[in-house]
Amino acid sequence: KKYVYTFGGGSAEGDKSMKDLLGGKGANLAEMSSIGLPIPPGFTLSAEVCKFYNENDEAWPEGVEAQLQEGVAKLEKLMGLKFGDSEDPLLVSVRSGAAKSMPGMMDTVLNLGLNDRSVQGLANKTDNTRFAFDCYRRFIDMFGNVVMGIDHEEFEEVLQKLKDEEGVELDTELGVKELKELVDRYKAVYRKSTGYMFPQDPNEQLHHAINAVFGSWSSKRAKTYRKINRITGLLGTAVNVQAMVYGNMGEDCATGVCFTRNPADGTNELYGEFLVNAQGEDVVAGIRTPRNIDELKDDMPKSYEELVEMTEKLEQHYQDMQDIEFTIQQGELFILQTRNGKRTGVAAVKIAVDMVDEGLISQKGAVQKLVEPGHLDQLLHPQLNQSDISEDEIIGKGLPASPGAAVGKVVFNSDKAEEEHGKGEAVILVRIETSPEDVGGMSAAEGILTSRGGMTSHAAVVARGWGKPCVAGCDDIVINYESQSFTNGEVTVKAGDWISIDGARGIVIKGKKPVEEPSFGENYHTFMNWVDEIRDMAVRTNADAPEDAKRAREFGAQGIGLARTEHMFFGEERIKAMRKMIISETESERREALVSLLPYQKQDFIDIFDAMEGLPVTVRLLDPPLHEFLPDEEEEIESLAKELKIPLRDLKRKIRLLKEFNPMLGHRGCRLGITYPEITEMQSRAILEAAVHLKKQGKTVLPEIMIPLVGTSEEFIHQHEVVDHVAAEVFKEAGESVEYKVGTMIEIPRAAIVADKIAEEAEFFSFGTNDLTQMTYGYSRDDAGKFLEIYMQEGILKDDPFQILDEEGVGSLVKMATEKGRKARKDLKVGICGEHGGDPSSVRFCYNLGLNYVSCSPYRVPVARLAAAQAKL
Ligand code: ADP
Ligand code: MG
Ligand code: MG
Repeated sequence: KKYVYTFGGGSAEGDKSMKDLLGGKGANLAEMSSIGLPIPPGFTLSAEVCKFYNENDEAWPEGVEAQLQEGVAKLEKLMGLKFGDSEDPLLVSVRSGAAKSMPGMMDTVLNLGLNDRSVQGLANKTDNTRFAFDCYRRFIDMFGNVVMGIDHEEFEEVLQKLKDEEGVELDTELGVKELKELVDRYKAVYRKSTGYMFPQDPNEQLHHAINAVFGSWSSKRAKTYRKINRITGLLGTAVNVQAMVYGNMGEDCATGVCFTRNPADGTNELYGEFLVNAQGEDVVAGIRTPRNIDELKDDMPKSYEELVEMTEKLEQHYQDMQDIEFTIQQGELFILQTRNGKRTGVAAVKIAVDMVDEGLISQKGAVQKLVEPGHLDQLLHPQLNQSDISEDEIIGKGLPASPGAAVGKVVFNSDKAEEEHGKGEAVILVRIETSPEDVGGMSAAEGILTSRGGMTSHAAVVARGWGKPCVAGCDDIVINYESQSFTNGEVTVKAGDWISIDGARGIVIKGKKPVEEPSFGENYHTFMNWVDEIRDMAVRTNADAPEDAKRAREFGAQGIGLARTEHMFFGEERIKAMRKMIISETESERREALVSLLPYQKQDFIDIFDAMEGLPVTVRLLDPPLHEFLPDEEEEIESLAKELKIPLRDLKRKIRLLKEFNPMLGHRGCRLGITYPEITEMQSRAILEAAVHLKKQGKTVLPEIMIPLVGTSEEFIHQHEVVDHVAAEVFKEAGESVEYKVGTMIEIPRAAIVADKIAEEAEFFSFGTNDLTQMTYGYSRDDAGKFLEIYMQEGILKDDPFQILDEEGVGSLVKMATEKGRKARKDLKVGICGEHGGDPSSVRFCYNLGLNYVSCSPYRVPVARLAAAQAKL
């Protein structure tokens, strides 16, 4: 079996489609090598080896060792150098890389192959002793850290001490003598921490490093990252062993990272940072301040030209914005990595539109792969009102690392952020800089503020990926973890104080600023037009107020899939009438109370229908258990008794009677409408009178009346008749009629099972997947929080079924009911109106079942539109 795939010299055994096996890095190195880009050669050990390693007590599968040696031999031949040679050694990097990118989560070792003898060989051969020892000290540090688990800080401290002794500030100012000294001190750190001498055998070094990368796959921080980002189903990480190229040989060398377009706003410009005479992680490590890529043009014009050429080639080849690592060795450019760059929502949409304009990709292609549903979600993020902020309120300016406004209480560490978030607090995580250990806290925070680090720092990259507001490298402020505060010299902010940050402008403001709704640009509309041209499943919204309906319509909703009527009973006057209705002893009392509710309901429907003019509106009849409308505080009960002029004791008795043991399974939904048909009558009348009223004004209204919680076709028939009866009355009185539909929610498992029978009577189905999930699992929605988290940690559930539709179980019911329903009624309209209507994977599932529409909250509408289009492609 093949475990090792070589690349280099203009060809490769792998390609970009092999990410699962070779990881993103390995697959792209192979691809780049095949298309003739300047890639240092090497080979990739497949992720299968990692899986085997982690499952079999750190052993390798049969045959890997031999293939590894072959790989090394091939590499030696290509490079004309020998691994482990003491005169002119071949050095390699050992790099991790899984199928899904996990920035900074796993580890890399550079300059592997050096030892006390070959460092001298390298020095002689390159005539650059400083360089050779610089490589060696880096290698000891990285090997010690990655392989032996020595805290990187221990090396840093030794380095800092030496710099202090020598009175220099930068690593680059250390001379040969000092670097040799540093190597000795590093070896001492290594010896002290591990009890071993630093290993001198390159082959042993190589094996240790490879195993360390395999092991890092199951490190705590890697696991946390995968959990938060829902990365599942991967074999493990691949390992890339690659010939070193050196950005640290002198002033004609450099290393850097760049994006082919601006990842914050999408502008078509080279965007990135570099350092002269540096290696690998120096750019992101924040040791020296990296320089803007534009300056490379002046420093090394030829290499800059070449880099631009490479980035264009890569964009054309991948048809996507690329995130690239490069190194310049004595004027020669090498590409070390490329991947599709993470970007903000604004940037994603702009890049998609620009790339189509530039002819780089088709509209379809752009919709399919250049914008993710989550990107649109980001566009809907709130912003700080610009005019609301005066310059002197700003206590710090940093880099605009990830756009969006965030307001919260300051916390200084990640555990605290998670803890406060768990209590429902909004927090801003404030750190000098973040590291992969902080991802839990970063995820819990509303926004992130760091005082150190660039646009490609850990905080910036992670925040952009999540669409979380972030201000990075805000060096106006000094953070003191000990006193739990930060200050800009004038203003001091303590833990627990409110701050507001604007990640698009990079500003920090003391206090709690109001946030405002985002507005969409032209690119957004262009892009969404393409989405809608492709898409054929409709997207509706769940809305029960005219403002929500209007907003959703702006977001592209094609109707209302669920207008809940219960919220309409909560106004000051209405709740009185409602309560009166509920505690009525007789039908006539009840009717009297309902009569006073009718005008309110009718006006509500007029407003909603008007906002959705020309589009279908599904109104659900009263659903929750009645006692939800009754007061529970003593004072309220007393005043209600007064109001209704009944003895307090009677009212209390009535309330007690209404209490249920399992209200969710109790007297609710159509059970109310059947026991008290006058409720259904009043609601139907309000709906249809509103429709007639608008029709008389020349407006098109398409009402769909939905009966909730149906479990038997008899229930439905009963309610259907009530509605039809009222409709006939209303139309006769008005001398005008409107078309209306009567259908049902499918939210009780029994209804799904007898869907064919129900469909004989019902004109449409709408899956209420919240209740359907609740009843299929038997998990109370309101109590499941107590155990769902543990279920997911234990792997008993993969996702929260209330967020992501359980395709296997609940989905089977949806599928069966759709099929049965359509068998009984060919043109049955079927939609879904649960929380899942806005979740991209659930939208895809609904599309594949042939549903006519999904319905979701207004803010999810653009997301659902894109998800529906992508489901089709
Ligand atoms: P990460 O996934 O954390 O980015 P990488 O494997 O990409 O880790 O490597 C970290 C750094 O080391 C990068 O800046 C990369 O460019 C550099 N690097 C990796 N391999 C080599 C090599 N063979 N020659 C020179 N630099 C390298
Ligand atoms: Mg790394
Ligand atoms: Mg990298």
